[in-house]
Amino acid sequence: MQQFENIIAGKRVGAASGKWIPSLDPFRNEDWCQIPDSDEADVDRAVQAAKAAFASAEWGGLTATARGALLRKFGDLVGVHAQRLAELEVRDNGKLMTEMLLQLRYIPQWFYYYAGLADKIEGGVLPIDKADHLVYTTWEPLGVVAAITAWNSPLLLLTWKLAPGLAAGNTFVVKPSEFASASTVAFAELFDEAGFPPGVVNVVCGTGPAVGEPLVRHRDVAKIAFTGSDNAGRLINRAAADDFKHTTLELGGKSPNIVFEDADLDAAAAGVASGIFAAGGQTCMAGSRLLLQRSVYEKFLDKICALATDIKLGDPMDPKTQMGPMANIAHYRKVLNCIADAEAEGARLALGGEAHHAAGEGLFVKPTIFRDVKNESQLAQREIFGPVLAVIPFDDESHALELANASNYGLGAGIWTTDIKRIFRLTKKLQAGTVWVNTYRALSFMAPFGGIKHSGLGRESGQEMMKAYLQPKTVWINNSDKTPENPFVMRLS
Ligand code: NAD
Repeated sequence: MQQFENIIAGKRVGAASGKWIPSLDPFRNEDWCQIPDSDEADVDRAVQAAKAAFASAEWGGLTATARGALLRKFGDLVGVHAQRLAELEVRDNGKLMTEMLLQLRYIPQWFYYYAGLADKIEGGVLPIDKADHLVYTTWEPLGVVAAITAWNSPLLLLTWKLAPGLAAGNTFVVKPSEFASASTVAFAELFDEAGFPPGVVNVVCGTGPAVGEPLVRHRDVAKIAFTGSDNAGRLINRAAADDFKHTTLELGGKSPNIVFEDADLDAAAAGVASGIFAAGGQTCMAGSRLLLQRSVYEKFLDKICALATDIKLGDPMDPKTQMGPMANIAHYRKVLNCIADAEAEGARLALGGEAHHAAGEGLFVKPTIFRDVKNESQLAQREIFGPVLAVIPFDDESHALELANASNYGLGAGIWTTDIKRIFRLTKKLQAGTVWVNTYRALSFMAPFGGIKHSGLGRESGQEMMKAYLQPKTVWINNSDKTPENPFVMRLS
């Protein structure tokens, strides 16, 4: 069985305990590789390596322009190894090869974008209101960043952290999900090939309790950049508070896709279907609540059911496959349990609602649609993270807005309409980090992404998000020969 080791100080190493965790291929439903079952001892070694690299002349003393050049080189290497990295991720979490190849060919853009920003981190000279003083600001990196990621898109989620964080001059300890670590290890190996000094990017594999928790608590970690569930995010934020660590938290969602009667209904149906069934609904931004205007309710529901019925489930390596399996057994059971709970709650099934066995041994769940769902029901409120759509009728715009915002989450929202004034009103009032209008699930390295309420804190991507990996320092230089008249008062004049 293939082994993917930790990377600490540029070296591939197993866990100090010598133990391993098997990793499942969810399409074949069999273990295919193993990763180190690391613990606190491995975490400490990795943090010490990252701390030493941060202080080193090779990294800490590098000019910003040179850091940018390294990032560009790394981006090039990701492009060169795109096929291999995509294959690893498909094997490990069942994502489609077609989607992974697109992702891997686009991921370098984040490294190129932040490489360009590396030497544009500028402080300022302040026109200060005190005579004979020179006052200026500089922006400094934070130190060691812990990047903790989810299993659903390991490389994309990691890229959103590494690209700005490295451009800013930080060092990293990465903890991928124990359910899909292989692609992260292979990706991180490329930093050595790109010429990054050892210790700048370290990877420690293992579980949340054994690796994630000690990493979050480690005194030498300055920031936690986390993507995962709101439950883990809450625990991490509490633990980070003990040492006043910086955090960026990208958490879950229950995003509404709102379809009005004046929309291009065919385009909307395609957008809604891809919003919930792409990647088997295992995306944070899944449009898992369809808010549908009553006047087009039956007509649109028929369209969505027809599209969902035609979805081809199967081998994620096959370019014709449109939906792969659930990524691991625990998650597969969770999705089926959520469906059973919804039926017990009285929800009306319009399509699917069960496992799909026709595509082999894999952990498949049929595209599932519940109709006439109440927004306050568990089905409409809890994140399922699977191919399960809750269809909720609404009467008019204000009703749609009320339903859309009646959620603990606030990650994304979709609006399907041709009414420009409505677009202005709703984009302003929807409580979401991203609002997509007549499109859905669109992303870019230059567009900030993240959520409000239980969907998280902070954003990733975009120019301003470099600041999430930097802190300002203010320098006061007194150039006066005069001694202050009264040294026991603050120097305000
Ligand atoms: P999870 O919270 O179970 O695990 C995420 C990571 O955190 C894993 O590496 C895990 O080992 C680690 N972890 C768990 N508990 C921890 C703790 N107490 N301390 C430190 N680390 C801990 O989430 P998951 O099941 O891997 O991923 C699915 C979730 O991720 C969904 O809620 C989804 O919406 C969310 N997600 C959000 C975004 C976004 O950008 N907002 C993107 C992708 C996924």
